[in-house]
Amino acid sequence: MIKKSIIGLIRPKVEYEMVGPTTPGAQAISAPMNVTLLVDIPLENRNALLIKAGEKVKEGQKLTVSKESDVYVISTVTGEITAINPFTGDRGKEYTAIDIKAGGDEIDDTFSAFKSKPALDNAINFLECVPGKPDLKRLNDPDRPIKKIVVAGMDPDLLVAAKQYAVRYSCIPIKKGIEILKKITGINDVVLAVPPSLERDAHTEMIDTVAVSTKYPSAIPRMIVKDVLGQEIQAGVKLEDMGICFISAESIAAMGDAYKDGKIPNRKLVTIINKDLTKTVVSAVIGTPVGNILAALDITTNDQDRIIAGGPMRGSAVYAGDYPIQPDTDAIMIQDKADIPNVSDSACINCGECIRTCPVNVPVNLLVRFLEAGEYEEAADDYDLYSCVECGLCSFVCTAEMPIFQFIRLAKHELVRIQEEEAEAEAAAEAAEAAEAEQLEAEENA
Ligand code: SF4
Ligand code: SF4
Repeated sequence: MIKKSIIGLIRPKVEYEMVGPTTPGAQAISAPMNVTLLVDIPLENRNALLIKAGEKVKEGQKLTVSKESDVYVISTVTGEITAINPFTGDRGKEYTAIDIKAGGDEIDDTFSAFKSKPALDNAINFLECVPGKPDLKRLNDPDRPIKKIVVAGMDPDLLVAAKQYAVRYSCIPIKKGIEILKKITGINDVVLAVPPSLERDAHTEMIDTVAVSTKYPSAIPRMIVKDVLGQEIQAGVKLEDMGICFISAESIAAMGDAYKDGKIPNRKLVTIINKDLTKTVVSAVIGTPVGNILAALDITTNDQDRIIAGGPMRGSAVYAGDYPIQPDTDAIMIQDKADIPNVSDSACINCGECIRTCPVNVPVNLLVRFLEAGEYEEAADDYDLYSCVECGLCSFVCTAEMPIFQFIRLAKHELVRIQEEEAEAEAAAEAAEAAEAEQLEAEENA
């Protein structure tokens, strides 16, 4: 069980930092010699791979690894595949990692054929790996039709500024992206959620905006729906079940650029948060190893320092400097080993700090007892686990230094895993029953 919190000696402000008119643009990191792209399926059978080491690929080329799955990545460089390996990510999630050695400048022009005829199917087929990783299939689910799209122009975690940068520096592509999105989905209710400091930039481009408070955790999507859109959210109900879909401003800008240029964007905005909490926003080719970016910024890491994907409140440790920037990597935070918190095994002392700070009134002091005991279903049914918006504030204030937020994430992860296993077992039992019935019928007819 995870016992360490990433929040310790760090005391982040509980106000978001604002990007404004004088904020400098993102620092471009040189294109790397090698990239690693992660395909969101496990590597199970090497012999069945659709691509092999030694094959040449072009920037913009769509790569799938299995004929059983339509999950893909877009090559962000031109070059040669050097290796395909399993890769384990956060909480044991399995990926297929494709290593590519860069060389050459040819561009795959398959997507350019759709430049003048945007449609949801070509967006789903080519743009799901653009910076920000939009879940475009969600816009095409007849069982859960989307009625409102919220373009997220503010990062949910503290110190992270990728989405704000996209709004500050890419308003024109965002406007084009929103126009295209409306056209290909037929959804006209699209708003850009921005901090007050960026409302003016968006207004100038005639984009519909809503203002998000600068107080943490106002920019977490469920908080925006509750506080800005004024809609009540039932515990456990997903936003897509309410007909609401969030897409990052960076993704919308990338879609706008893709259809303008006929070329799929390959650079991701990433906020690099140094040990002293100073930050630099960079633009890096997707697949660039984190170590390359740290070297370019003269940031050194020592043994036992921690690398965190994400910000100080909601990020997860990634362990290695060769971790590749992914389409949804908004931030990388370096934590000095001296700042890694002491997380105690102490029991809750019922001080009530967590309850007072929780923005959605979860009875955290009670919830944590069930989470510690691994009684996740009780935690969900009786103690509001699913009301939690994952802000991390309870861990931040806990007098007993309990890793409450890690308990919460682990519980949600385990409940999803259990539900998936139950669904698989049910499907297998139904298939076996159907096969048995078929065999009986065949025997009776024989
Ligand atoms: S992480 Fe903690 S404080 Fe934040 S919503 Fe969940 S229970 Fe409440
Ligand atoms: S802040 Fe920590 S110690 Fe205090 S009631 Fe909440 S879980 Fe218990």
